[in-house]
Amino acid sequence: MDTQEQELLSVIIPSFNEQDMIDKTFYTVKEILDKEQIPFEIIFVDDGSRDFTYFNISQLSANHPEAKGISFSRNFGKESAIFAGLEAAKGACCVIMDCDLQHPPETIVSMYRLWKEGYEVVEGVKASRGKENVLHTLCANGFYGIISKVTGIDMANASDFKLLDRRAVDALLIMPERAPFFRALSSWIGFKTTSVPFEVQERTVGTSKWSLWSLIKYAVRNITSFSGAPMQFVTLMGWIMLLFSVILGVQSLYRYFTGTALEGFTTVILLQLIIGSVLMISLGIIGHYISRIYDEIKARPRYIISKRCGY
Ligand code: UDP
Ligand code: MG
Repeated sequence: MDTQEQELLSVIIPSFNEQDMIDKTFYTVKEILDKEQIPFEIIFVDDGSRDFTYFNISQLSANHPEAKGISFSRNFGKESAIFAGLEAAKGACCVIMDCDLQHPPETIVSMYRLWKEGYEVVEGVKASRGKENVLHTLCANGFYGIISKVTGIDMANASDFKLLDRRAVDALLIMPERAPFFRALSSWIGFKTTSVPFEVQERTVGTSKWSLWSLIKYAVRNITSFSGAPMQFVTLMGWIMLLFSVILGVQSLYRYFTGTALEGFTTVILLQLIIGSVLMISLGIIGHYISRIYDEIKARPRYIISKRCGY
């Protein structure tokens, strides 16, 4: 390895239907890194876009040796795109950032400096959440509250904007999980970690690629991929119902022996409803985990690459 390679920074940019952002993002990042004389490559991972995202990436890579592109055969999700980028990266360290410049590229320079000082993981932490609607903020807070609790990692202001040393990247890449949750895994692996705050910028072009439904799916998937706590919830409900049944059982027996039974039909119906719904929710939760096991055991690849450019 020459010094150039030992200092190479790979910038990984997952892009889904971002045709208008590719050039802008590339030139913005390039200008900043050139000025700081940081050797870099930029890897765009086209996550199965249905617009000209990949075409624009290939145009860039034809003119700039630093620009590289990978294209998925369909939309596999941001998580898969990040892992594909990490796998393709040649750098001594990697930065993951969004394509919409909501992660300010100037922060990459501070991250890189910290890496030079010897930090192996540099986390970008949101100083504020930028402009989001109230519902989104509420849901995000709920999700991060739960996930921080079950994983024991504080993720309230976590983001995917991170720098990872080669060692950390290699540690992530040997994880066999089919449904990795990047944000949590990158803390879970440990290493010498620090963080830099950044202000979430406003998206200038296009719209957020997340619908409410996709966010809910993302939340459920990632909570269950990191924790078995929802299954313990089933046990907890079981104990609560047992307690109830003891109380009601004693009451019923007492009524029976004192000859005041037969009333209390409402109680029967209510109990039926409660037990029925608790059982069904519980089965659903267990079913969800079984389907996750099923997915993992099939051991399908995390993504399928259809095209590459710049290699
Ligand atoms: N993204 C992706 N695959 C997807 C959805 C999003 O690669 O299925 C990328 C997207 O192109 C962007 C980043 O993930 O670079 C963040 O997406 P977005 O800006 O839509 O999310 P938000 O900023 O609203 O959280
Ligand atoms: Mg965004």
